[in-house]
Order: sequence, then C-alpha cells, then structure tokens
Amino acid sequence: MAATIGSDVLVTWLRLADAAIAERADELTELDAAIGDADHGTNMKRGLAAAAEAVQAGSFASADALLKKVGTTLVSTVGGASGPLYGTFFLRAGGAVAGLEVLDAQALAGALEAGVGGLAARGRATTGEKTMLDAWSPALKALRTHPGDLAAGVSAAVHAAAEGREATKPMVATKGRASYLGERSVGHIDPGAASTVLLLTALDDVVAGRVS
Ligand code: ADP
Ligand code: MG
Repeated sequence: MAATIGSDVLVTWLRLADAAIAERADELTELDAAIGDADHGTNMKRGLAAAAEAVQAGSFASADALLKKVGTTLVSTVGGASGPLYGTFFLRAGGAVAGLEVLDAQALAGALEAGVGGLAARGRATTGEKTMLDAWSPALKALRTHPGDLAAGVSAAVHAAAEGREATKPMVATKGRASYLGERSVGHIDPGAASTVLLLTALDDVVAGRVS
C-alpha cells in the first residue's frame, strides 16, 4: 500500500488508466451516443494512450511536472469538450503541488481541489449539471474526510465518484452537447462522469497495491 504518491505511482496510474479506458472505450462511446455524439470513448482512448506513453518516455523531477505533462498531452490529443476540460484539470492539479516529489493525502486533496476548480471554471459548470464534475466533486469531498490516510481517502473517493456517476442519470444536462437534448437527457449516465470513475479506480488500484 502506498503511503504517498511519487512519480513511479503516477506512471503506473497512467498505464492502468490507459488500459481501463481502452477496455471500456465502447461503453463510454455508447453512453455518449445516447446524449452526445458518440466519441467520448475514442477521444479518451486516444488521449490516455498518448498520456501514458508521454509519462513513460519522460523523466520528471517532480509530481507537478508529470501532472502538467499529462495535462498538455490530453489537451492536444483528446479533442472534443473533454480534452480541454481534463487537460485543465491535470494542469491545475499539477500547479497546486509545484515542486513536490511525492504527494500525501493532503497534497493529493490540494491537487484535486485545484483540478476541480479549474474544471468548473473552464466548463463554466457547477455540480448538478450532468457532467464529469458530478463525479469529481464528491470524490474530492470524500478524499478530504481522510486527511491522514491516502489509501482510505482514495478508496472513499472512488466510491463517492461512482455514486456521483449514478446520480447523473436522473439529471437534466445543462452543459455541453447533452444540454441540446434538454429533458431528453434524463435517464442516461453522463459519459464524462463514467470516465472519471475509471481514472479514479485505476488510481485506487495502484495506491491500494492491487496492481504495480
Ligand atoms: P464532446 O461533448 O465535445 O463530444 P466528449 O464526448 O469527449 O466531448 O466529452 C463529453 C463530456 O464532457 C460530457 O459527458 C461531460 O462530462 C463533459 N463536459 C462537456 N461540457 C462540459 C462543461 N461545460 N463542463 C464540464 N464538463 C463538460
Ligand atoms: Mg462526445
């Protein structure tokens, strides 16, 4: 079990996240087909493959440099609305932990808070609008309830994100492409909330030591 997150953990996380997104890309695309334009799976698959490759190829003096590399890679490869959103998330998360070689539970919460803030600002979104923010925001809250225990915090974050993903189902979308559907967006899970859960699950698997 990792007590802190260093570059090695982050690289493993990206590798696992890439595998998870690739495996579930069709599912993400199906979710996007229902309320969007059926490209979220392909967008994320392309982006995570590039991000995993970029962090494996590079060497990073600090966690923030690595997170920023993930951000710039996602901005330039994912496309769609989610590329700049996820990209901003990682850029801002990195900015919040500048110079740190390893992240403990509190540093991770700081990174996540900055990421969520960046995401909300970039998307001009708030919770309850049926977006990825509805998974990230409860995840951050849950992480904060375990300030001294990274593994417990990340595990709680995954559960909260999964609940947040399910909670998008009855919501009316008011941001992004899904908002064009208005009331017809009700009854479908938001694809970005679903991909968020996959990313956090991969982090949990690494931090908990289930995968290395
Ligand atoms: P696009 O909508 O351009 O096709 P994707 O399909 O890759 O891009 O991503 C769609 C996801 O992006 C949505 O499911 C939602 O979670 C997220 N999203 C879209 N617009 C916003 C926004 N303004 N704020 C927050 N998240 C958003
Ligand atoms: Mg789409």
